[in-house]
Amino acid sequence: MSQQTVLVINCGSSSLKFSLINPSSTQVTISGIAERLLTSEAFIKISCNNEKSVIPLTTPFDHQVALQYLVDFLNKHGLTEQVSAVGHRVVHGGESYSQPTLIDNNVKDTINGLAQLAPLHNPVNLIGITAAEQAFPDLKQVAVFDTAFHQSMPEKAFIYGLPYDLYKEQGIRRYGFHGTSHYFVATKAAQALNMPLSSFSGITAHLGNGCSVCAIDNGESVDTSMGLTPLAGVVMGTRSGDIDPSIIFHLINQLGYSLDEVDTLLNKKSGLLGISQMSNDCRTIEDAIINDNNPQANLTMDIFCYRIAKTIASYMAAISHFDALVFTGGIGENSDLIRTRVVRSLSLLNLKLDTDKNTDIRFGKAGSINSDDSLACLVIPTNEELVIAMQTQQLIEQGE
Ligand code: AMP
Repeated sequence: MSQQTVLVINCGSSSLKFSLINPSSTQVTISGIAERLLTSEAFIKISCNNEKSVIPLTTPFDHQVALQYLVDFLNKHGLTEQVSAVGHRVVHGGESYSQPTLIDNNVKDTINGLAQLAPLHNPVNLIGITAAEQAFPDLKQVAVFDTAFHQSMPEKAFIYGLPYDLYKEQGIRRYGFHGTSHYFVATKAAQALNMPLSSFSGITAHLGNGCSVCAIDNGESVDTSMGLTPLAGVVMGTRSGDIDPSIIFHLINQLGYSLDEVDTLLNKKSGLLGISQMSNDCRTIEDAIINDNNPQANLTMDIFCYRIAKTIASYMAAISHFDALVFTGGIGENSDLIRTRVVRSLSLLNLKLDTDKNTDIRFGKAGSINSDDSLACLVIPTNEELVIAMQTQQLIEQGE
């Protein structure tokens, strides 16, 4: 069984990321991405045994063509026999799924129905599932939902201050996202602190292009900053995070924006990009602070970090005890500057960093960064693909 690998698929509208992972050894045999799908510039990048290749795809340049290329690649390298199952990242599982789930027609119908809540994500996840079913007709397919870990939230955390019927009849509530990542780093944090996950309470901050904060009490998600959609919560790369909802009426009624323009503004032109007027990439903004002392870049970082710190502090109301604050995601794992500015605002909660430890941890390293007189603060690189591979394998083995 230890030679068995799981093919993990994460499908976007014009991309398809994949990796072939052995869940027992955690070894990654193949990883890659097909990009610019549905255009004549579509290509696939594959890394296998430290060798990288980039190959243009053929017509009709779609997800199916990309997966067929992968099937041929696996056959050519004698890897097909090792693949035991396919695990899919599916963004929205609504209230239907709190666990990884074996995909059948009913599950596909439910994922399709939930597209109403996640129109940008669930339909493309289904395209990936259908393409994988055609490419690997003999393999079981498993869906791992981004929302699943947050299904343990209590009503007080997930019901909005709206008429209750909108929840009961239309499913309008907080769902939360990045669940696989929050679960993974909480599990690793518990291990680092020598306790079972079921005893771990703390706060995990997934800071990447998308950002979310999660309150974890005795191993379960009890609150999180993203909401009905991944637009809510803290300021992100291009997403605004929480704003006064009346700003939307103001943009439409007073400033003549169309609904589509508001959508684009809040999802694609706001956040770090919108405030800095420079870039959505944290590194560019950091460079502008460090090299040029750029005031707009400085303000952007202050807003970004203050909002994260405020969310972390507010989650003290959600948990019964505090074991650790955990940073993860591209920014959380690499930016000592952001970690410094976030934790600087949390000294009243007895969180303080050790400067040397903080600057030392980046590029995939894990470790503690707090000073000796502080509560625990950890950096833990996330690995959503590994969780998807492990949960897929577990589910397949349970059914055998
Ligand atoms: P992710 O979505 O998790 O891949 O994270 C992407 C974000 O991580 C981008 O804003 C990057 O600028 C940021 N990031 C990646 N590497 C670094 C680094 N070395 N220092 C600061 N930010 C980084």
